[in-house]
Formats: sequence, structure tokens, C-alpha cells
Amino acid sequence: MQANVFHKLFLWLPFAYHHTSNGMEWNYLTNGKTWTDLCATGKQQSPIAFDIQKTRELKSPRIYFANYNVELKGPIFIKNNGHTISMDIPATINGQPPFISGGRLRGRYLAKGLHFHWGSPNSNGSEHTINNRRYDAEMHIVHRNAKYIDIIDAAEKKDGLAVIGVLLEIVKEPIAIPTGLTKVINAVIETPRDESNTTIPAGFSLDEMIGNVDHNDFLSYDGSLTTPLCHEAVSWTVFTQILPVSFSMVSKLWKLRDHCNHPMINNFRDIQDLNNRPVYHRFGRA
Ligand SMILES: [Zn+2]
Repeated sequence: MQANVFHKLFLWLPFAYHHTSNGMEWNYLTNGKTWTDLCATGKQQSPIAFDIQKTRELKSPRIYFANYNVELKGPIFIKNNGHTISMDIPATINGQPPFISGGRLRGRYLAKGLHFHWGSPNSNGSEHTINNRRYDAEMHIVHRNAKYIDIIDAAEKKDGLAVIGVLLEIVKEPIAIPTGLTKVINAVIETPRDESNTTIPAGFSLDEMIGNVDHNDFLSYDGSLTTPLCHEAVSWTVFTQILPVSFSMVSKLWKLRDHCNHPMINNFRDIQDLNNRPVYHRFGRA
């Protein structure tokens, strides 16, 4: 009972919105080409195609990943919301929230949830591309500016949200897949359909979702949520290094069903116009 109340409060963005303003449930059939309102008219939309040659060097300090190395306090709630698999991020076993600060961010951004975008057996499905390359999948860790009340409130503000993007690539024999990521993806067999959910014991930290990818080398720009209503509230940080994963891991995602009971595949949005926005690259160094 208590768990239910808790999880209702945690129906967090971007997937609190199942409908566009005309009442239609949105989908990925055209990878977002038919989405309306700000998704169609916005000038600071995401994802974008990163062209490393055209980035500006970011001289800011590194991003500080606070409590990312501390085990999360379980149980951890995982849900098929009809568009993706999402995981609520609880506090750590020390009772502290994981958060990020530094880089181009002002203030603290609390880690609230994570989810994935992926392709199909025949197509890659990362949202961002780097030098015209689309990767197999992309993980988003969504953070809310600590000064706002909740994620819905934060989505209305220009400095409301900060998302960390991690690109995933299938390789033949990945050396070390992060243990947390393995646990979360293994759990999706329990969430085959829209609204199905499960809990897993924690026993891992957010760093164990990301693995050894260099946290200090990243691409950064100001953009939007990549799902309706496409709020332009996101400071994006996409790690330049790619996280190697296995075929068997990503193939578990291809077997899920979406809100129409269709295969949940290719749940990524098309590349959006940059519209002269600056894109920054911070090179790996402490
Ligand atoms: Zn996302």
C-alpha cells in the first residue's frame, strides 16, 4: 500500500505526459515527426547530431557526481510506461540523494530517474549521434534542479532539468558490463507490457549503471526533453566515451511491448535543428 502511494508520486517526467495537447497518446511511429506544439515549434529541441569538430572547448570545472558511488537504498522500482523502461532513483543507503553540480550547471540537480532509448534487431536507436554515428541505445539519467518543488514544476523552468546521456554500443565480448545496468535490464523480463512493473533489490550505485565511462569528457548543450511535451528545460551532458554492452542485454529490450501492444522498438526521436546553439566539449581531465 505504502509502496503504491510512493510510486504514484514518482510518475516522473518525461513520461508523466502520455498525451499531447490534442488528447492523442503519442508514439514513435515517425520518431516524433508528427508531434505537435513545442515539439514542432521549439527552437531548442533535442536530440541533436554532435559534430565534434564544430564544438567549443568547455573550460569549466568537471561535473561533480555526488553520491554516485554510494549504493542506492532498495527496493528499486522499474516500470514499462508504454514508451520506455524507467527506473526511479531512490536515496542512497546513507539517506542522501545522488546529485550533480559543476560543469555548466548552477546549483544542485537531484537524480530522480533513468530510462532508455533503443533501436531494433535491424537498426540503432541512440537519440544523440556523434560524428554521424548512431549507437545501439542510450541511457538518460534525469536530474531536477533542487530549487524546484518537483519534476513537473522544474520542466517549466529554463534551468529546471539536467540529463546525463550515456551511449551504449553492442560489442562481441564486452569486458565489464556495469553490474547495476545488468540487474536493471535483466529485470525487464518482468515488465513486458505497458504498465507492468517490478522491484529489484538495490545493491548497486549509480556509478554501477555507468561503469568506467570517463565522467570528465563530455558534450554539453541546452535543449529539451525528447518526449512530448518537449519542454526546453534541459541542460544536456552526453559522455563522449561509449559504454560497451552485450547483444544479449540490448536484445531483451527489443522483446518488450508498448502502449499499443506493438513491439517497443526504435523509441528514439529524430535529430533536431541546432539553430545556432553553442555545443561544448569538455576534454577528459580531472
Ligand atoms: Zn530519454
